[in-house]
Amino acid sequence: MDELKKKIQNFDQKTLLKCLKARGWEQTELFRLSRQVKEKVFGQRIWYRGIIEFSNLCRNNCFYCGLRIGNKKVYRYKMSLPEIAAAMDFIRRANYGSVVFQSGEIRGQRWEKYLLAIVRLTKKKYPGLAITVSCGEQDRGFYKRLRQAGADRYLLRIETSSQKLYEKLHPKLMSWSRRYQCLKWLKELGYQVGTGVMVGLPGQTPADLIGDLRFFKDSQFHMFGLGPYVIHKDTPLAAVNARKQWREDKAKIYHLTLNFLALLRIIRPTANIAAATALDVFNPSGRIMALQVAANVIMPSVTPRKYREHYVLYQNKPCLDEEAKQCLGCLTAKIKSAGLESGLGEAGTSPLYLKMARK
Ligand code: SAH
Ligand code: SF4
Repeated sequence: MDELKKKIQNFDQKTLLKCLKARGWEQTELFRLSRQVKEKVFGQRIWYRGIIEFSNLCRNNCFYCGLRIGNKKVYRYKMSLPEIAAAMDFIRRANYGSVVFQSGEIRGQRWEKYLLAIVRLTKKKYPGLAITVSCGEQDRGFYKRLRQAGADRYLLRIETSSQKLYEKLHPKLMSWSRRYQCLKWLKELGYQVGTGVMVGLPGQTPADLIGDLRFFKDSQFHMFGLGPYVIHKDTPLAAVNARKQWREDKAKIYHLTLNFLALLRIIRPTANIAAATALDVFNPSGRIMALQVAANVIMPSVTPRKYREHYVLYQNKPCLDEEAKQCLGCLTAKIKSAGLESGLGEAGTSPLYLKMARK
């Protein structure tokens, strides 16, 4: 097993390719190794972040996402501050140590004022709670003011490390370099920065995925939130042929994502890695499997039930008809029965971030 670990950490191409495709005993070996690496740092502990999807308004038109501005079938909402305060009360009562505020991408002064108010309100009422924001690309000044208002962490997936593939998945107005620039700003401003990609995108090659792993290794992000690509019928990426292809590739994408997560854990032992909700589309225990193999973070939804059906990035999103309390109870029961430990009340700062801050 030490031999395999060395080869993966040295980026031996042949080994990485073999691991991405691994099934059967080869996959079992890969999972055993990544679990061992994870347990050395985190034991059985799983950290929680309650995620509030506070608005589905979005200015962008990403070709894969159900919330794209071009999708006129979506009922658009923006939670009021009292609604957010009520969701926060639940977060506190349920003993979450960390909250994530996520939305589509909106820019401008009114939006900034609204977001700053959300963060300030949270910081003032719950000073110990770690605050993560995930609201897309903004300018440096906005990120700075948000940090000063009390945001500790920011999630912004690069989506793919390949600029060529990125261009195929986004309209011309969006650019890979601008997204990367945002990640650099966030790091400079002292955020704990999380990024990630989608696995199984149409046109994505194994070489692209190895490129993603290298990107993650070289750029030293503190957290990773990545998951499988899931089709959404009201998007340009879901042409009839693509839908058929996707159905046929489902099992492949599921295993590819788990193998990718395992490789990432071996390459970045001390980073926080979240188990993406999208995994549950492929297998009801998908997220738990990811936690057993490589991930150490889970993000149960705290979005009020009435808004959940409108925050649909991809088809068949799980838990749309559940209340926040049910989501937490159901996940914790699954976590415990999988032999893992709940770290619900903890902020769960990335050990990688702490290590880098000490330098
Ligand atoms: N608007 C912000 C945050 C919300 S979208 C942003 O784009 O950063 C959060 C993530 O959902 C995106 O980064 C993307 O990786 C993921 N996503 C969107 N559509 C998806 C799909 N069809 N399948 C899987 N993940 C998807
Ligand atoms: Fe908007 Fe984010 Fe969806 Fe792109 S991925 S359309 S930015 S919500």
